[in-house]
Amino acid sequence: VVRSKDAGPELLVRQLLRGIGYPGYRVHRKELPGHPDISFMGRKKALFVHGCFWHGHACRHGSSRPKSNQFYWHAKIERNMARDKANEVKLSQLGWSVLTVWECELRFREEASKKLAAFMAD
Ligand SMILES: [Zn+2]
Repeated sequence: VVRSKDAGPELLVRQLLRGIGYPGYRVHRKELPGHPDISFMGRKKALFVHGCFWHGHACRHGSSRPKSNQFYWHAKIERNMARDKANEVKLSQLGWSVLTVWECELRFREEASKKLAAFMAD
């Protein structure tokens, strides 16, 4: 995935977390499976901020595929999805709760904030 590690959607999620009173996150902790984009070490909560296309979200952004090189894209996205699933399993085996925030969800900030609040309070 060609993008900065501090790309927009991730920054927005951090901003929303601060907004609902959870400023104490860490980012890209290498010791955690999958290096979650955002993690709360004491609370054992990890968040991944995923682009819908690259991670195969079941929304219209995730289900549109380029017409050329279909096999290539399909294989790549399948690999990402398998890796995402494996990381989530590893994290939960270590006692972590995991939330995936999809890029498309961030267009509705109020809803996104509510989802984050529910996850953090759980
Ligand atoms: Zn999506």
